[in-house]
Amino acid sequence: MSDTTPHPNRFAGKVAVVTGAASGIGRETALRLGAEGASVIAVDIAADVDGVAAQIVEAGGTALAVQSDVSERAGAEAPVDAALDEYGQLDVLCNIAGILAAAHSDQVPDEQWERIIAVNLTGVFYTTRRALPALVESKGSIVMAASTSALSGHPWMTAYSASKGGVLAMTRTLAMEYARRGVRVNAVAPGGITTPMVGGLQLPDDIDFSLFDRISPLDEFRGPETVASAICFLAAPEAAHINGEVLRVDGGTLA
Ligand code: NAP
Repeated sequence: MSDTTPHPNRFAGKVAVVTGAASGIGRETALRLGAEGASVIAVDIAADVDGVAAQIVEAGGTALAVQSDVSERAGAEAPVDAALDEYGQLDVLCNIAGILAAAHSDQVPDEQWERIIAVNLTGVFYTTRRALPALVESKGSIVMAASTSALSGHPWMTAYSASKGGVLAMTRTLAMEYARRGVRVNAVAPGGITTPMVGGLQLPDDIDFSLFDRISPLDEFRGPETVASAICFLAAPEAAHINGEVLRVDGGTLA
């Protein structure tokens, strides 16, 4: 059975920035953090991030929407500044925004490579760099959205896999560097989760699908809420001694 019921008040008095909050895993994470008592800064390039913040407020929580592009330094830093301006503190940073595209690796267009690295890796760095001083002050935590593509070969996803491998390396580096200053840094590595990102993926049409045919044994639990519950666990005090870890949320695909 799947039970992803929020834990009321787990994040009471805490302030959380969630990027990619308009859709999929980021959306579920923002809603869950809001339901668990955090003041949420919901960040996305998509304008309908306003609706997610409104949904948190309607449910009795506290939230603010920031529409910005995390691949630009100013856009990546703005949500951290908004958290500090509005609430005076930052306790949790969830770097979830990301994009995916597929191509034969000898045919990846420059623009695809550059955009994926800019959003999935450079944007994560920009937001994290801005957030670290505030997180040191609050003894807060960071959760990154890596991917099973950082842990195993995902054909036709060279740029995406490279970006997620970078995110995982950044996670471990920061975990070591900031542990003694009280900041924990962990990552989730989802497998195939049912979100608009995966629904919209266009694979090259001349591929050997058997290379892509990894089967999730727990197929029925592929929804983004299963990843959001793992992200919130890693961000929460109950994970106080978990640092530099990557938690697969893939139904056992890579077990
Ligand atoms: P999603 O439903 O597409 O949500 C991602 C959100 O990030 C979208 O609202 C997207 O807006 C936003 N975004 C894209 N570029 C942005 C930018 N430059 N600045 C700010 N926001 C931006 O995807 P998801 O499946 O929930 O994925 C969330 C994270 O989990 C990603 O980092 C992804 O790589 C990772 N992940 C997902 C899976 C999976 O199977 N779904 C597996 C492994 C890892 P637009 O829709 O306008 O682009």
